[in-house]
Amino acid sequence: MRRYMVAGNWKMNMGPAAGRELAAGVAGMLKGRTLRGDVLVCPPYVSIPAVGEVADGNPVLLGAQNCADQTGGAYTGEVSVGMLKEVGVQYVIIAHSERREYQRETDSQFVSKINLILEAGMKAIFCFGEVLEDRKAGRAEEVVRKQLEGVLPRLENANAYNLVLAYEPVWAIGTGETATPEMAQEIHAASRAIVAELMGAEVAEYLRILYGGSCKPGNARELIGQPDVDGGLIGGAALKPADFVGIIDGAEATLD
Ligand code: PEP
Repeated sequence: MRRYMVAGNWKMNMGPAAGRELAAGVAGMLKGRTLRGDVLVCPPYVSIPAVGEVADGNPVLLGAQNCADQTGGAYTGEVSVGMLKEVGVQYVIIAHSERREYQRETDSQFVSKINLILEAGMKAIFCFGEVLEDRKAGRAEEVVRKQLEGVLPRLENANAYNLVLAYEPVWAIGTGETATPEMAQEIHAASRAIVAELMGAEVAEYLRILYGGSCKPGNARELIGQPDVDGGLIGGAALKPADFVGIIDGAEATLD
């Protein structure tokens, strides 16, 4: 049985003060509850320490949205995995479609980053997914295969516990358009089969594959209830405590 994960990607929203308030709102709503899955938030770098201070039984784990592909040195504007570890980060999102598109990040950079994350004893969330043009042309699975084949075989010491995948169809991110549960399940099942080819059947069985793309309280239960969907990577809906907790409730409901 795979433990569900609900991860909030705050993107370039929430400075330290607003981030602390949002995290405290989520923690307040979750207070006293025992969650059966993993919940984490990924604030912008500068807000991570403030969010990490929201303690008091807070079950929410800390993540980051990116890291450098080098360990340190003359790389202006970059932040290393060691620095992230020092401020309590446990998970790092890699290869988000916005970084693929705006920063033109490549498979080799994803490989370097994930290997550094794993080497530091942290966990990586590797994102992949097709754009609308590929979906329309019936190439979604082909694109996903290429993205997974370009990275997974080159990882050192990745396993089902330190790596999480996130299928994020680009056409569904921030658009309000969601993949139907059937569409999500189809790609998730195909991805898991590809993981089995590349990393072995046991890793594929235990590895979590999250869905991302306009996930909200109203559709979370059905999406996360699909057999190969193990949780959600949440953008817009992670910015309001009630929506984020509503999605966590949806994930919990799949276990009842
Ligand atoms: C994301 O960017 O990872 C995402 C899923 O965004 P949204 O939930 O806003 O579609």
